[in-house]
Amino acid sequence: MAWCEECDTLVEDEDLGEEGECPTCGTILAEQERGPLPWYFKYLVLATVVYLGYRTFQGVTWVIHHV
Ligand SMILES: [Zn+2]
Repeated sequence: MAWCEECDTLVEDEDLGEEGECPTCGTILAEQERGPLPWYFKYLVLATVVYLGYRTFQGVTWVIHHV
């Protein structure tokens, strides 16, 4: 069941539209299904890890040369 704030009423699951919308006002009420992480998110994480690793390596190298 979902609560429609527009209509101020409770909507039964079987009354929801195909997109999970309210049959009266059309507001989407159903929780959108969360699919798998988008592919670019993995690359973003990978890029961040590589970048941070590189910066850490740079920092360590700098320290070694300046101690
Ligand atoms: Zn509604």
